[in-house]
Amino acid sequence: MAHGGFHGGGFHSGGHHSGGGFGGGGFGGGFHSSGGGFGGGGFHGSGGFHSSGGGGHYGHYGYYGGDDEYGNHVVGAMVYMTIGGIVFSVMLFSFVAGLIYEGVIPGLNFINLAIFVASVVMHIVALIQSGRTADIRNIEYVDLNKFAGKIWNGNGYRPRNAKGDKRTWASVNDKRYSISFFDREFGAENAKKVLETKLRTPKILWVKPSLWLKLSIGCFIVNFFFYEAVIPVFENMIMTDIAFAFIDEFVFYLMSVLSLLFAVAAVVIFIAKDNVLHECALRIVEDNVAFEERYKTESAISSMLSEKWYHNSCPNCGAPASKVLKNCLSCGSSLEVLSFETGAPGAVHRLSLADEKGKEAKKEKTK
Ligand SMILES: [Zn+2]
Repeated sequence: MAHGGFHGGGFHSGGHHSGGGFGGGGFGGGFHSSGGGFGGGGFHGSGGFHSSGGGGHYGHYGYYGGDDEYGNHVVGAMVYMTIGGIVFSVMLFSFVAGLIYEGVIPGLNFINLAIFVASVVMHIVALIQSGRTADIRNIEYVDLNKFAGKIWNGNGYRPRNAKGDKRTWASVNDKRYSISFFDREFGAENAKKVLETKLRTPKILWVKPSLWLKLSIGCFIVNFFFYEAVIPVFENMIMTDIAFAFIDEFVFYLMSVLSLLFAVAAVVIFIAKDNVLHECALRIVEDNVAFEERYKTESAISSMLSEKWYHNSCPNCGAPASKVLKNCLSCGSSLEVLSFETGAPGAVHRLSLADEKGKEAKKEKTK
């Protein structure tokens, strides 16, 4: 078939033209038998190339129409993929498979149909997974004090080695996390930190997951027209058989591969999002633990400061006073230190609340 590398006639015919209904009568005929359209009746007047259904030089896909065994094998695989799915979809696939088998549907064979199905499966996984983090979208628009949202990764149960409390935690070993926005103490603060994370990471991470599905659906729809609309441009170009063979496959599979890429993007993005949020959860947990530590220390200090101090010896008569006394045994005047600013003389000591309570409790018991 090679005439010095170039095809003798200077034109090719794609191997994926659909025969019968759509292609031959509709698109195929419409585009190709018009003659004048792409330049020269020489190419198109024949029309025979295009409605023949893989009858050109590169009729690689002829065997889908011809070989029963192979066809059944692929149908079997397709049906197997949907086991556990819905009966309706099996019926739909059988119907579609029948149409593809007959070569009626333009732009579809079993291979790119399988690619489209694979991208739908991946989109479904991505959509289900992104439900866990859907509440992030609401952070900007709701009153954080009344916000009851939560985001998580994992089965929702806190692993034993996770840091944090039962509402907001992050696993150290893997990417599991839980960030709650309803926590009375930290909820609003957690939401603010997640929002900060959202704003300083690439916007593409936070695109609605349904957008990727819509792009794939768009590819699927465009695919019905794409091959028949684009391949004639290359059919009319003078090029080597090998180059045309490549372009033929490329054009035929472009939309299904794009659809798969959008599905992969959706999956990759939810994984990346989980990584980002897991790190965010670790930070939040550390912040919250540090805050609680600080709060404990501060409240301990403030409770110590609220306790009263007493003189060791009576400021009035100078009689020594034991630890538990609040009034002088000799003169009855108060031993309480009224103010540090008064510069009250003598050593002071403090009776801690725990000391007093402990002693009172002991007294009660001994009575
Ligand atoms: Zn006294």
